[in-house]
Amino acid sequence: MGSIKRLLIANRGEIACRIIFAARDLGITSYAVYSDADRNSKHVKLADFAISLNGLEASESYLNLDKLLEIIQEHKIDAVHPGYGFFSENAEFARKIQEAGVIFIGPSAEVIENLGSKIKARAIAKAAGVPIVPGYQGKLDTDEDVKKVLAKLGFPLLIKASAGGGGRGMRVLREAHHALEELAAARNEAMKFFKDDQLFIERYIEKPRHIEVQILADQHGNVVHLGDRECSMQRKHQKVIEEAPSPSISQSLREKLYQASISLAKECQYSNAGTVEFIVDDQDQFYFLEVNTRLQVEHPVTEMITGIDLVKAQIKVAEGKHLPFTQEDVKFQGHSIELRLYAEDPSRQFFPSHGKVALLIEPDGPFHRIDSYLQEGTEISTYFDPMLAKLVVKGFNRKEALQNLNALTSRYVLLGIQHNLNFLIDLVASEAFQQGKYSTDFIAKFLETWQDSELDEKEIDSFDDQSMIMFSEQENLPKDLIHFRNV
Ligand code: ADP
Repeated sequence: MGSIKRLLIANRGEIACRIIFAARDLGITSYAVYSDADRNSKHVKLADFAISLNGLEASESYLNLDKLLEIIQEHKIDAVHPGYGFFSENAEFARKIQEAGVIFIGPSAEVIENLGSKIKARAIAKAAGVPIVPGYQGKLDTDEDVKKVLAKLGFPLLIKASAGGGGRGMRVLREAHHALEELAAARNEAMKFFKDDQLFIERYIEKPRHIEVQILADQHGNVVHLGDRECSMQRKHQKVIEEAPSPSISQSLREKLYQASISLAKECQYSNAGTVEFIVDDQDQFYFLEVNTRLQVEHPVTEMITGIDLVKAQIKVAEGKHLPFTQEDVKFQGHSIELRLYAEDPSRQFFPSHGKVALLIEPDGPFHRIDSYLQEGTEISTYFDPMLAKLVVKGFNRKEALQNLNALTSRYVLLGIQHNLNFLIDLVASEAFQQGKYSTDFIAKFLETWQDSELDEKEIDSFDDQSMIMFSEQENLPKDLIHFRNV
């Protein structure tokens, strides 16, 4: 495999920008693609070349395989980075790219296919000696089948779609009543979202923590881990805050998770960057969940504590190069936390929002990192994923990371669109988060009493844009202005 000269980024938003930065550093020419909704988007401006996909919604644009293949040919592209979402875990896409003689930045199509099926991935984990959640993956059509599963596993149970992702298609079963209806609904949902209605059932672990391990592997059998991330701050099975390292696990558990991840990667001849996800119960027993065969949204927290640029490493490995470091060379330093800023309104059941960025102030700081595609004037549509930005900090230790996070969030200003920053700030301030002791059920409970603290409309109207800018540029931002962020 030769070195990459022309890289097509088959994605949008903050991750497209992130990949363009890595390409720049490596002297690679970047080619962006865009939907009509993203014509003026930051990734279009940043890339060396930008090509229209002549479509609006995802299915007509970023998921238009034929159009992407046409662009690859026409512009003599030699590699494609899929980012996350869209085609990033689509084996057919990876195969088509490879058949066109172009490098797909990720593992082989076969590995994507095997790990993309949760059922197959469980078998691989088992073969690698990695514990999996006790489960059942046989026939689930009759009351008798359900009874068999119950006898084997007991309650509570979790119905999952084999091809599932993004927390979709999961249903908790706490009693036998309506089990068949729940299964039928899960099957419909799986068909609708993943075009595959295969289901399986596993034991539902109460109050688990979600801990994951970043791995990096080359095409010559070398695998390293880049540490762990705590991702238990979740709403509806979707991550909201991530940190590295996990504040909740012992060193001995940490080592076990690393060894399990490396064994699994070797078992399936993994190459490129990947994430091995686990859940850990309140007795510190860990179970394999799945492998994400792509760059993860939360990769910055790992970069912050290892100093390793994961996107550059992905590109090098995809070129066929050896990993430039061994496990012993990887050093962990400090603590990093990431908040996911979403275009959604927490005071209205997290309803997706849209609008135009009217004012944006991204505070600078030596240990702040903001991965975002926002600029003043950016139009936020509801066609795509609602994530607007990732607010990331690093500290010498967790305590300092928390201080830096407060400094960043209390100075960050985004007006013109509803977003979840106030909610994130309140989550961070919670005792559970401050102490680093929280499980995946935390947010649901937190929301039972949480109230958004907004100024009333009249007070907001009495400020004009100019006075807000003057306020926000002051070193000590007035407390009141914090409330403006969610306007
Ligand atoms: P997806 O691919 O849809 O993201 P995962 O299998 O990765 O699905 O699980 C997503 C989240 O769902 C986990 O982080 C965890 O919070 C929850 N979850 C998954 N499996 C279980 C389980 N067996 N018991 C309890 N919670 C689970």
